Amino acid sequence: MKKFDYFRPQSLKELFSIYDENSAILAGGTDLLVDLRSGKKSFNKVIDIKGIEEFYGIRKANAGVEIGACETFSNILNSKILNKFTALKQAAGCMGCYEIRNRATIGGNICNSSPGCETGVVLSVYEATVNVCGKNGKRKVPFEEFCVGVNKTSLKRGEVVLSIFIPEIKNSKSFYSRISRTQGMDLACWNGAILVINPENPRRRKIRMSFGTVAPTPFRDKEVEKNLSNKKLTQKDIDMAFEEICKKISPRASSLRATPEEKKLAIKNFMNDILGNLP
Ligand SMILES: Cc1cc2nc3c(=O)[nH]c(=O)nc-3n(C[C@H](O)[C@H](O)[C@H](O)COP(=O)(O)OP(=O)(O)OC[C@H]3O[C@@H](n4cnc5c(N)ncnc54)[C@H](O)[C@@H]3O)c2cc1C
Repeated sequence: MKKFDYFRPQSLKELFSIYDENSAILAGGTDLLVDLRSGKKSFNKVIDIKGIEEFYGIRKANAGVEIGACETFSNILNSKILNKFTALKQAAGCMGCYEIRNRATIGGNICNSSPGCETGVVLSVYEATVNVCGKNGKRKVPFEEFCVGVNKTSLKRGEVVLSIFIPEIKNSKSFYSRISRTQGMDLACWNGAILVINPENPRRRKIRMSFGTVAPTPFRDKEVEKNLSNKKLTQKDIDMAFEEICKKISPRASSLRATPEEKKLAIKNFMNDILGNLP
C-alpha cells in the first residue's frame, strides 16, 4: 500500500483546510481500505471524518428524517425513529455481516456508488435528498442525481456528504429484496425496493420501484410506475410492466454474481410478490 498522511479533523472548518484533490475521505473504511490495500486507489492524505459531530445523528426533520453520513448500518437497524422506513431497515439488516454493519456508514455506501449497494434502491424509491457541504457552503442533491455511474457520484471536488434526508410519506409501505450467493457475507447479486403509496386504495395508489445491479445506478422507470399507479392491477399489467423494464435494463453478462436471466427473474418474482398481492 502506498504511504499516506492520516488526518482526523475535529471540525468542518479544519476538514476543509486540509481537504485537497489528493485526499480521500475515510468513514468506516470498509470500501476505501480495500481499495488502498489493493492499490486500486492511492492518495497523499487520508482524512478520517469520524471525529466531526456534524456527520452524526438520526433525527426527525421537516416531515421526514435526517441521517448523518457517518451513522453506521447497526445504528440504522437499531434506530426507533426509522421504524416506519421498512425497506431501509430491511436493507440495513442484510448488509454485509455484524462486523461490517458496525463499521460501514450510509454516507460511505452512497459515495462508493456500487450498482448493487444496499441503500441505493431504497433511497431511490424514498426520493431522498443528499445534503452536501463544501468549502463554499451547502447544497441539496436529489438522490436520483447523486449516483451518476459505477463508483461515480455528482459530488464536486472538495465536497462531502453531511447527511441524507428521507421524507416520510404518509400511508405508504416500502419493501426491500435482495439475492446473494451466501447467507450473511456477500454483496447483493441483485436488489430491489418497492414503495406503495395508498396501498389499500387502488384509484389513489402510487407505485415506485427501483432495481440494483441491472444498470450502472439504481434503475427506475417512471413511465412504467405511472402505468401501474391509480388502478386495480391485473396479472397482465404486472407482466407488461416487467417486459417494459426488461427492454431498458442492462445487466452485465460478465457479472460474477448472477446472470442477466437470474436478475430478471428476481425482478419478476419481486414484482409478483408485492404488486400481485395488492387489493
Ligand atoms: C466484507 C465486506 C462485505 C460488504 N458487504 C456489503 C453489502 O452487503 N452491501 C453493500 O452495500 N456493501 C457492502 N460492502 C461494501 C461497504 O461495506 C459499503 O459500501 C459501506 O457502506 C461503505 O461505507 P464506509 O463507511 O466503510 O465507507 P469508506 O470505505 O470509508 O468510504 C467509501 C467511499 O466513500 C467516500 N466517503 C465516505 N464517506 C464520505 C462522505 N461523508 N462524504 C464524501 N465521501 C465519503 C470515501 O472517500 C470512499 O471513496 C462490504 C464490504 C466488505 C469489506
